[in-house]
Amino acid sequence: MSDARVGLLAFQGDYEAHGKALARTGIASITIVEVRRLSDLESVDALIIPGGESTVMGMLLERFGMFEALKTRIKEGLPVFATCAGLILLAKNIEGSEQTRLGVLDVTVLRNAYGRQIDSFHSPVRTSISHIGIIDGVFIRAPKITALGEGVDVIATHRDEPVMVRQGSIVAATFHPELLPDAPLHRWFIQSFLSKTQG
Ligand code: GLN
Repeated sequence: MSDARVGLLAFQGDYEAHGKALARTGIASITIVEVRRLSDLESVDALIIPGGESTVMGMLLERFGMFEALKTRIKEGLPVFATCAGLILLAKNIEGSEQTRLGVLDVTVLRNAYGRQIDSFHSPVRTSISHIGIIDGVFIRAPKITALGEGVDVIATHRDEPVMVRQGSIVAATFHPELLPDAPLHRWFIQSFLSKTQG
């Protein structure tokens, strides 16, 4: 069977760290694809949207004619793992912002929600994935999820607030799981959503 093709949205941000995290999962049957144009997007079986700057990613998706195609693929069930700015890009509502967003994830987010003076911090994150449990969350100018729509499940919390959610085949985190040494959430994402990699 051919490998599952996992895309990294590669306009800007920390997509390379996600590529390295995928490699650290040790799952051999995936091919990593840097996605910068429509044909790349069409070729992938799943997509990672990294942290970075959500306004820039939204603008570049439009400029390269990929915005509507990505929205359609996600609505049709493309598995997506988004972190930080990626989560903001997927969100339906962004408090106090009119910025371009895909609007496919039924949450409200507040950008830079931990205050300007707190640029980044580490803190334990409790996941509901039994074999993963508690992990070290790295938050970098992180957003907060301030409201959840119906059909959105909370997968991880920090101080009882949701920091990772799932709606259908969309998984999104406010923190940076690509910085974990053993990449457990990347392994979980691949094994949960890409049947080609099982067995
Ligand atoms: N504050 C950034 C944004 O709004 C997100 C920060 C990050 O991705 N580390 O896009």
